[in-house]
Amino acid sequence: MVNDDALVLECKMSSVLSLMKKTFYSNNEIFLRELINNAFDALNKIQFGRLADMRILDDELMIRLIPHRAKKTLSIIDNGVGMTKYDLVNNLDVGFYSAYLVAHKVIVTSKYNDLDQYNWESQLDGSLIVTRDITAKKISRGTKITLFLKDDQLEYTKEATIKNLVNKHCQHITYPIYIWSENTKDYWQLINSWLNKQEMKNKFVDEKLGNHLPNDLIVSILFKLPLKSLKRFGGLYKSWALLFENSHFIDLFRNNVISSHHSYYDDTSLVLCLYQYYNDPIKYESCLYLLNGEKFQNTEKLNWKNPLEDHPFEKYIFSYSSVNGILCFYLNYYNQSMYLWNPATGELKILPRSPTEYVPPHVKAYITNDGFGYDCVRDDYKVIRTVTFDENSFGERDEELFTIEWDFTPICEIYSQKSNCWRKVDMDYAFCSKGGENNLYLDGMCHWLNNWYSSQDLEFQLDISSTDDQVYLVSFDMSNETYCATVVPIDMAIDDDFVIYGVDRFLFVLNGSIAMMSNDQGKTTFYISILGEVGKKETWKKLFIFDPLPGIGTPIGARSMGNILFKTKDGQLVWFDLSTHKITKVGIKVHPGIMFHMVIYRESLVQIQGMKS
Ligand code: ADP
Repeated sequence: MVNDDALVLECKMSSVLSLMKKTFYSNNEIFLRELINNAFDALNKIQFGRLADMRILDDELMIRLIPHRAKKTLSIIDNGVGMTKYDLVNNLDVGFYSAYLVAHKVIVTSKYNDLDQYNWESQLDGSLIVTRDITAKKISRGTKITLFLKDDQLEYTKEATIKNLVNKHCQHITYPIYIWSENTKDYWQLINSWLNKQEMKNKFVDEKLGNHLPNDLIVSILFKLPLKSLKRFGGLYKSWALLFENSHFIDLFRNNVISSHHSYYDDTSLVLCLYQYYNDPIKYESCLYLLNGEKFQNTEKLNWKNPLEDHPFEKYIFSYSSVNGILCFYLNYYNQSMYLWNPATGELKILPRSPTEYVPPHVKAYITNDGFGYDCVRDDYKVIRTVTFDENSFGERDEELFTIEWDFTPICEIYSQKSNCWRKVDMDYAFCSKGGENNLYLDGMCHWLNNWYSSQDLEFQLDISSTDDQVYLVSFDMSNETYCATVVPIDMAIDDDFVIYGVDRFLFVLNGSIAMMSNDQGKTTFYISILGEVGKKETWKKLFIFDPLPGIGTPIGARSMGNILFKTKDGQLVWFDLSTHKITKVGIKVHPGIMFHMVIYRESLVQIQGMKS
């Protein structure tokens, strides 16, 4: 293998060298320009790749030069794309071989993304060795080229010579070029200090992307990117921020959002529907439906055994969410117990009480569920909830008890399955969900809205005048237990007269992005915006507006390919296809006042650890 490679190289090198000597490379010093140009290209490739691939390390891109007088070497280091073994053997060409104008031996160490690090070593006689580099210091990504200078070329170990050359030949390089200098405090001295970082970035995009890629090509790459990446483009290149003003681009982007599949919806949807018998206010019944298939074509009423059937007042599941096949639910505001339940195995775990629930008789504690999710760092399931306090208006009023001091400040607390206990979390009540049932868990984070209006029944509706309050999407990281709030524009769903209407908001996942549907209560125009990046300003993009859908009530849930489940005003479940705007009945019909709740559920045999029922 090595021999074959060496042979190829020998031919290439001798022809290249004779060509170089005879023609354009009569001037030795151009070798530095060639090598720096290659580094520049490699850095551009990384910069471009980063825009689409978040996994690429976000390190500062730069070129470093290390002259070493005693060793008679000059090294050129970049943290660009690097080369694979194949590139090392096959791609190096005239530009690179100009190194032999000044060197008798060259060692290239290169690492391409996740692949192994390789050494390439060759001498003027044409010998070539390419080895997997397991001993040397690891480079995270990029290329290091070390030139072993010929004895008559030692001037290229001089700092002043190198700086002059960079100034002369490398004015177009838009990344910092540093030189190792013993005269400088931290050893790295910036040579091209005329560059301003923002200008560098702009220049990169203008020159490398703007001019070199035809517009059609840019558009066809961009519409496939997640909104988050597009926003980065927007920041780099002004005219791309205007992309969203281009209706052709929006159409492409929108269609891509609807039509591409995302694994989030590989699971089954589980719909809980809550019957209330109006002639008997105590009597509730919950029932579960499994909705399978892309368009809910397979509906199955589950013959489920309500795990709490034996408890006379606890038949009414109020809210639940699902992660990895485990459902977390609680019954109503007055019953404080929370449960974890795996319907597939029948395991049920009643969460322990938290100290905050023990209140004096004149105080009533109300519990609202903010989120249920999975901490992948600790392999732990967690529940976040808020406990609020109010005066107890039930039962006997024992005036003496009313003298006990009580702090009515709401408390946010988190339960960990591993430690099987509750502990307080430092979170301002302003960011708690306040009873919104519409939370979701995605990629290690629980998301909810801090200001929620019932999108189901007017009787649950909160004070409409509080539309003025700032609404946030709150994203809670289940592993490090910190949260981040993203402003939700108040005008999201509002045309002109929003003072009259409150806004219903519904959170769901659309092609892997967090999406929010909003509509003004009393009207049937719906808006869907998708989130660019958590915590950023002006990060929502309004993508869909659909006009009055006769009879359509409130959104219940979503599946992939833009299928959204709605409750109609007469109590049916229908799905709405975002691309065709067709409405199809699911085939579940109940009383108009019935509440529906949907979660994405994947049947699993996961054990609820430490379960005691
Ligand atoms: P040419 O004169 O055709 O540009 P070069 O020898 O300068 O030939 O470069 C050939 C190829 O080698 C480049 O297109 C690139 O793929 C690869 N290459 C050279 N230097 C680097 C580097 N520092 N990082 C990554 N790839 C490089």
